[in-house]
Amino acid sequence: MSNDPFQNALQQLNQVANLLKLDDQTVKRLSSIDKSIQVNFPVKMDDGRVEIFTGYRMQHNNARGPYKGGLRFSNQVSKSEVKALSMWMTWKCAVADIPFGGAKGGVVVDTKKLSESELKRLSKSFIRSIHQLIGPQQDVPAPDMYTTPQIMAWMADEYSKIVGSPTPAVITGKPVRSGGSLGRNKATGQGGVFVLQELSKVTSLEPATTQVIIQGLGNVGSFFADFAIKAGYQVVGVSDSRTALYNPEGIDLKRVLNYKKQNGTLSGCGSAQEMSNADLLEMETDVLVPAAIESVITEGNADRIKAKYIIEMANGPVTPEADKILRRRGIVSVPDVLSNSGGVTVSYFEWLQNLNNEKWSEQKVISELKKKITKAFIDGWQAREKFQTDFRTAVYALAVQRVVAALPKVK
Ligand code: GLU
Repeated sequence: MSNDPFQNALQQLNQVANLLKLDDQTVKRLSSIDKSIQVNFPVKMDDGRVEIFTGYRMQHNNARGPYKGGLRFSNQVSKSEVKALSMWMTWKCAVADIPFGGAKGGVVVDTKKLSESELKRLSKSFIRSIHQLIGPQQDVPAPDMYTTPQIMAWMADEYSKIVGSPTPAVITGKPVRSGGSLGRNKATGQGGVFVLQELSKVTSLEPATTQVIIQGLGNVGSFFADFAIKAGYQVVGVSDSRTALYNPEGIDLKRVLNYKKQNGTLSGCGSAQEMSNADLLEMETDVLVPAAIESVITEGNADRIKAKYIIEMANGPVTPEADKILRRRGIVSVPDVLSNSGGVTVSYFEWLQNLNNEKWSEQKVISELKKKITKAFIDGWQAREKFQTDFRTAVYALAVQRVVAALPKVK
């Protein structure tokens, strides 16, 4: 088993390459990262010291359009992780059928240890060190784990200053007041629930009797939980990185989110059974939604997963080994590149609005998102028949096929 995310991404690609009978040279091109950058950049800390931070930007493939993908700020950021994530972005943009390629980046930093002004200086300094690589037609970053709309605004400002003219389309996921799109913040969670609704149609799941467990209450998990409840599903379990809450009668989400805001923890929230994050994944439920980090379902716990369906809202939450076990057990996974594509889809809408100097209503954003992600789901579901394979492999095959069709000839 591999703990190396990039090896996992390559393994997925190779599986699809066999199915599509791709020639070796094409596989080699898809397996390599077009451009891989590491920068070490200085940041002035509040006490006057200068510290050096390490950041990455991996540009996997731009056959279908400018590179696109988030930036994460976390101590866990590694080269292998961002390489894998950049490849997944290529497939994600192809599945969502938006005109972008794939990239990802990040900075090795624990944002909890920085003051607001340090965070601002770090964000701007990082952009100064990668500005030559990015641009509205070149590479368009966005938020990811522990990066916020505010951080995107600082970065877009810094980029605009460097190039000498306001360039909001260089970065998406900005606050609405800084050229962001209405609905962007909720888009990944909202898109995931549109996917849940499509899945319900093809599998005859009735929302009122369908139990859902969500791991992770960050931006993605909390909006997913909220929209799922509004759509009539039974959310029976939620968790943050330390504590999980389970109540078969349903979770009082408002209360839980308020408690977390006030106390910084879910522990002691009451009205639900407390357990570990790992145990929550193994509870009885119809739908399990890992919405936190990669590799949480592994060959170590895949045998004990009781859900019938998994909707991957995190990137890469199921390892390839676990995937084999789940498939053998008849558990259907909706792959990350489809189910969490709502975020990048609305990023695309934001980019379009910035380039055309338009402002779309939230209603228009949501209805366009629904159209795009529903089509992506239906295309993927039908691809199972076409490729005679499981849902995940079919979705990946569809994506890879679209990218291969766009690969420029090598002269
Ligand atoms: N970070 C998000 C993702 O993994 C969004 C990327 C984007 O909007 O470009 O899909």
